[in-house]
Amino acid sequence: MSHHPLHLGVEEVASFNRQLSGESAETVIEWANDYFDHHMVVTSSFGDATLAHLAWSVSPLIEVVLLDTQFLFQETLAFARDIEHRSGGKLTIVQPEGISPDVELWKLDTDACCAIRKVAPLERLLEGRHAWMTGLRRDDSTTRATTQVIELDPFRDVIKINPIAAWTDADVASYKLRHGLPDNPLTSQGYASIGCWPCTRPVEPGADPRSGRWAGQDKTECGLHEPRVSRVSVTTR
Ligand code: SF4
Repeated sequence: MSHHPLHLGVEEVASFNRQLSGESAETVIEWANDYFDHHMVVTSSFGDATLAHLAWSVSPLIEVVLLDTQFLFQETLAFARDIEHRSGGKLTIVQPEGISPDVELWKLDTDACCAIRKVAPLERLLEGRHAWMTGLRRDDSTTRATTQVIELDPFRDVIKINPIAAWTDADVASYKLRHGLPDNPLTSQGYASIGCWPCTRPVEPGADPRSGRWAGQDKTECGLHEPRVSRVSVTTR
């Protein structure tokens, strides 16, 4: 039974971030698992296996969740199961509620589609929990350049833990090589950042990896990490 506070304020979060931001990803995950235990959940989109493998190597009991929008590539779903088996962990797959799998809302409104298929399931998942671990890296994109290892998610009242925030692409490649981890099979087909099939395109070598997501729109994030106003939840007068 833990006796430390699970609800942390701005100063406590900043202090943990100072203590842990120079530590290895494994140390950060061990700390988070000890501190938050079952009050923490890890999400991974399985574009890459690094975070899930790291988490399960610290403890196979850590809950790793794939938010399945019902528009994920079959390759990603199979890859996630493969990593689960290799790592000896237990993957939870969460699907949206209140929308049929064949409703192609993305054709009309990608923000609304992401709100129902990704953001709402995440928020249900975080209800009653205190910590959310992600594989965000500062290198991913300019919108993620200020990601801290431990930070507050001001929108959801949870602590966000980003153990590989400081990792470069080379760090990820070397981790995968060291542990014999495969890539998502779409990576070799030019998909540098992998989400739902209707909204993900391969990119040219050397291009911004996230430029293949929602290509042709000004959208760069789905709302998990940088909440946008959801048109679904806006009340019209
Ligand atoms: S990425 Fe595309 S298909 Fe997936 S939830 Fe968002 S809008 Fe819908």
